Amino acid sequence: MIRHLLGMHVPALGRSLKLPLTLGDLERPGFAAVPRLELVVGGALATPPASGPAASRYVALTFDDGPHPEGTPAVLDVLAQHGATASFFLVGEQVARYPGLAARIVAAGHTVGLHGYLHQLHQRRGAPAMAEDFQRGIAAIADATGITPRLHRPPYGIYSAASLRVARERQLQPLLWSKWGQDWRRVTTPEEIAGRVVRGLRAGDVILLHDADHYSAQGSHRRTAAALPAIMKALQSAALGTVRLA
Ligand SMILES: [Zn+2]
Repeated sequence: MIRHLLGMHVPALGRSLKLPLTLGDLERPGFAAVPRLELVVGGALATPPASGPAASRYVALTFDDGPHPEGTPAVLDVLAQHGATASFFLVGEQVARYPGLAARIVAAGHTVGLHGYLHQLHQRRGAPAMAEDFQRGIAAIADATGITPRLHRPPYGIYSAASLRVARERQLQPLLWSKWGQDWRRVTTPEEIAGRVVRGLRAGDVILLHDADHYSAQGSHRRTAAALPAIMKALQSAALGTVRLA
């Protein structure tokens, strides 16, 4: 419910705060953190014509809320089958439970970003709590993967003034999304998830999906993994590759 209420306003809020929703936004003045992230192209899906900026030929697949013992391996398998790269926004408390899965994401060539140590709305927490949350989350990911995350996406896509300040102080690049599958829903199907992602899909879109059901409807990650092959097929038909940000 909270996702539904808040998520509707995320794009408008994000733009007003200069938070990137698309790959193209990352090129816009004021939207990119310093140091700037690179778009890393990889895999068999990355075969569109080699001209123009990456944002005009690629989309970014992103997965929030993991790692998850069932959902993460299932998503990694489909990505590997299609040679696609993605960015995973990990939750620190889940990384602490499943450090091997976080390491597996990195070993498979994907990017890990921070989604928080706890999966809680920032508005309910003060500045000191947010600073501690970011620090714990970064440490959990670094301990498990050897990587210090540089990408950040808050739970529900909503920053507080304090949490956005902490993110910027830590030189974390915020990244929201421009397309989503609404795959957290209790009642939906893989076909509907894929349909919401690919309808009107354009180069530069950032696609939000979830490889875990820790904070959403039980078993939702199974529908996400089942939707992925159709999403990959649509990308191939549209000659769009996948990039991760690193
Ligand atoms: Zn989340």
